[in-house]
Amino acid sequence: MKKLIIKKERNLLLFSHVINDYPLLKKRLEKHTTIDEQILKKEKATVEEYNIYRMRNDIVTQAKNEWEIDTSRSVDILPDDKKVRCEVCGMPIKNVFYIKNSINQNSLRTGSECIKHFAITDKQHLDSLLKNAKRLKRREAIEHIFPGIDLRIYQWKNFIDDQPIIIKDTLSKQYYTLGETLSSIYSSYLKHENNSDKESEDQIREILSEADELISEITKYIKKHKNNVLYPPSRIFRSMEPQSVALLKQDGYITPRTLFRIRDDEVAQKIFEKYDAFFKTNKITILNVSPKNGVEYRIKRQANIILKAPYGVFCKKYGAEILRVNDIETIASERDLVSVGKVVEYRSLESLIYIMQDLYLKESPYAIEELYYEYNEVYFLVNNGLSREYLKVELPGLEVIARETVYFKGTENKKKIHVFLDECRKKPGSVTSRADYLFMKEQREANSRRSGF
Ligand SMILES: [Zn+2]
Repeated sequence: MKKLIIKKERNLLLFSHVINDYPLLKKRLEKHTTIDEQILKKEKATVEEYNIYRMRNDIVTQAKNEWEIDTSRSVDILPDDKKVRCEVCGMPIKNVFYIKNSINQNSLRTGSECIKHFAITDKQHLDSLLKNAKRLKRREAIEHIFPGIDLRIYQWKNFIDDQPIIIKDTLSKQYYTLGETLSSIYSSYLKHENNSDKESEDQIREILSEADELISEITKYIKKHKNNVLYPPSRIFRSMEPQSVALLKQDGYITPRTLFRIRDDEVAQKIFEKYDAFFKTNKITILNVSPKNGVEYRIKRQANIILKAPYGVFCKKYGAEILRVNDIETIASERDLVSVGKVVEYRSLESLIYIMQDLYLKESPYAIEELYYEYNEVYFLVNNGLSREYLKVELPGLEVIARETVYFKGTENKKKIHVFLDECRKKPGSVTSRADYLFMKEQREANSRRSGF
């Protein structure tokens, strides 16, 4: 006898919302577990009821569309001797899924066969739910033996990152390798892809004990070096180039090849404070150290002039001397020391050019009239006997020649400066009359007053 409605359809229909639209169907389903034509004939079904059975497939489709996997509940995986019955088809099941009706909130426990039959979710989703549930079950078993193992593997790398100083590659790589091996054994255990659970457990135990040994070694390493300024905290990696980070990890501490690569003010300052022998020997006063803003320093011979060098340039040049790698006292050439930096600050520039004037321009037609720091210009009064004119000189060029000649006395210096100024004079637009100069000066002063200088 051909079944019109089979048992699992009946059960699902009775828990679905759509059944309320078909009271005749509901009444009959409550009476029988399956419906066939014989029952309808015997119980004298009306034409109206027959019409309902003609559209039964659509009603079942409507019903199954009301259902979805209940994602708030995980899949239960039961042992073979503890199977339960599927509330849809009545068969014993060991992988128990929960489905939920999205209209009337009814809930049913069911097996993968019924879910596939009614296409409540696709196979892929079903498989992944089952896989996760199995993993979870396996995890429960292994957590029982090694409490907290999942979290420990998940946070494995943090141990190195959380230390107060950077850990050299030779130690950290060992530690990471152990973590990777552990993670792969653990993961095949969870997926049940291991040879034997006993073997996996032994391997895990061994790795954990190796890791504990390594951790105590790392702890000793930290204790030994944590107060050494050359062993910086790992936060400094964040501002460094990846290649520089790799070098620093390789060395384990700051060396001449990484000193100029660091970008952390605090670390750089501490190193300059601690390693000051080179500066003392060479009578250099360090005023400020900042990888971002540069190194500001004074050389004793010109104590009122501050030189400023880019941090990277300065440390690339003097890294080995500062860190005293060979423990040899180094006398730096003053010419080098002066040439890595520039005079940039207003007072220092002013000192620099007036010293230059005192040294080399005394009996010359050139006299400094005014330093226009904001305009990057210096005006010279040029006395050529008959008239007075004013010469505009760009500050950067003048700074270079002034720095060279002030720090290094030489017979050529005087000539050098005169040649330089004579050349400036030849540039179009660089010479102005007294009237024009005074006009410009007035304008600039008015501007300064307006902008609050
Ligand atoms: Zn079933």
